[in-house]
Amino acid sequence: MVIYPIRRDIDGQGTQLVNWVAEIQSPRNVMQDWNLDGRLEDFLPTFAQWKFDWLDVAGMLREADTVLEYPMVDRDPLPYWTAGRTTLLGDAAHPMYPRGSNGAGQAILDARTLAGCLKREIDAAAALKAYEAARLDAANKVVISNRSLGPDAILRTVHERTGDKPFARIEDVISRAELDGISENYKRIAGFEREALRQRPSLV
Ligand SMILES: Cc1cc2nc3c(=O)[nH]c(=O)nc-3n(C[C@H](O)[C@H](O)[C@H](O)COP(=O)(O)OP(=O)(O)OC[C@H]3O[C@@H](n4cnc5c(N)ncnc54)[C@H](O)[C@@H]3O)c2cc1C
Repeated sequence: MVIYPIRRDIDGQGTQLVNWVAEIQSPRNVMQDWNLDGRLEDFLPTFAQWKFDWLDVAGMLREADTVLEYPMVDRDPLPYWTAGRTTLLGDAAHPMYPRGSNGAGQAILDARTLAGCLKREIDAAAALKAYEAARLDAANKVVISNRSLGPDAILRTVHERTGDKPFARIEDVISRAELDGISENYKRIAGFEREALRQRPSLV
């Protein structure tokens, strides 16, 4: 379950606008339909007991204005994106599993790289080739990495070690070093490792 506030006090009475995602493995939606209405009964039972002093999760789910159901799908990495004066970018180039919350991040990296290449190269076709050379392997590695859990490996490890029982402190289950190791590895693959970002010149 992923929950995050989007906007404060939407009605002058302190109500927050919240986005939430319930991730459930299910054989439904094999048609890869992105416009399917979600059904409360498919996922509410899983979260029925989730009532904290700071949020009634089941109540929030029940009162949602809209529920949509998305399939968990991607596409195999492509061998090239550019043909003459045409190229691909973002989801059109590398649709990926939404693990690591990274699809839009990679699309932004594409856009900035493309802008930089168009600025430096006079010949448009050469600029598109240079953009592809800079981004294709990097983005394809994220697609592949997201197939093998990516940063969600933390969730699996904690689930296995606790036998799905509640715990008070995550440090009692998984060490800070292990957490950092998994995060840093994914950041390196996805291109947002802090030191690397500090050192490399602007893409544009
Ligand atoms: C539920 C969900 C949660 C997500 N969460 C995250 C997250 O937390 N972090 C993250 O980084 N990414 C996230 N993503 C992924 C992210 O939304 C996408 O990777 C990103 O939007 C891709 O951007 P894009 O510009 O390549 O494509 P899109 O955002 O799909 O833009 C393509 C645009 O082209 C338009 N279009 C299509 N066909 C035509 C046509 N023939 N003529 C004119 N216009 C056309 C479409 O209407 C659309 O506006 C999430 C995706 C989903 C579905």
